[in-house]
Amino acid sequence: MSPEKPEQYGQSEQHGQHGQPELHADCANCFGLCCVALPFSASADFAIDKPGGQPCPNLRADFRCGIHRDLRQRGFPGCVTFDCFGAGQKVSRVTFGGRDWREDPVSAKRMFEVFPIMRQLHELLWYLNEALTLPAARPIHGDLRRALEQTERRTLDNPDTLMKLDVAAHRSEVNVLLLRASELTRAAAVPGLKAEAPRGRKNAGGKNVGGKKAGAGRARKKELRGADLIGADLRGADLTAANLRGAYLIGADLKGADLRVADLIGADLRGADLRGADLTGSIFLTQSQVNAANGDAATRLPATLERPAHWDENVRGDRQNPANNGDSDTSK
Ligand code: SF4
Repeated sequence: MSPEKPEQYGQSEQHGQHGQPELHADCANCFGLCCVALPFSASADFAIDKPGGQPCPNLRADFRCGIHRDLRQRGFPGCVTFDCFGAGQKVSRVTFGGRDWREDPVSAKRMFEVFPIMRQLHELLWYLNEALTLPAARPIHGDLRRALEQTERRTLDNPDTLMKLDVAAHRSEVNVLLLRASELTRAAAVPGLKAEAPRGRKNAGGKNVGGKKAGAGRARKKELRGADLIGADLRGADLTAANLRGAYLIGADLKGADLRVADLIGADLRGADLRGADLTGSIFLTQSQVNAANGDAATRLPATLERPAHWDENVRGDRQNPANNGDSDTSK
């Protein structure tokens, strides 16, 4: 949710994961749909309430955001972390053939209805493309390809057909394949993962990791699907090849954690501290998840993702404030 999105990232413009530029937001070719179609509520992510179908007051006449350089400072971090996976330009240019909602108010309501459906389809395309890059998932590459083609065809349907689509059912079908791709990949990365005996692990401060709610035991099993790890102390945790699908990691302390080949699909990383963490080869991690977290120069990301610009700002802020020496855990 951020027209002129590339400025939110690092130096280079994004070209889309897995060489799929059409799966990345191209705000110049979108009618600011995320800033109109979607509702949001005043919260830590958004400074104001806005109902769906009503343009955000910050949206300019040219469909660009009037405050895109200062979204975080102006109380709209949720806009920085939103990613339409290219659904905005697809709906604007393909589904509705370049007619914008201001020129064509009759189509506007349908356009706003189609946008979230298209976003889900494009998100699935993103994951399916990633699954096809996973060598260990080769046994199901045929099924993945078929699901990819079917999903691509659906994105080209007309508005009425798209509005009738049972997108939840389609997601469920695709999710079975994504789960299998994840299992194959994580099992290949850590042979005998399922049979692995739990082993204690302590962080640099001598504490057991995963202390809050989930507990160290659950962290050791690495089966953390949907786990409540909000604010958990996971410093230095060994989460290699962990299943963190849909886990709540809001504000979790993952400094120095080993998240290689972890499945992070849908994990909520808002405000998570990834400084020094290793996410190399993590599965189904998206740019918007990374943007929602905090990290530093020592954070290792999958090659397909970019280091968010605000991480560098964090570093600059730390330099200006000697009290922030990278270890703020003395109270824990
Ligand atoms: S502040 Fe408004 S116009 Fe700007 S990116 Fe967010 S929703 Fe869009």
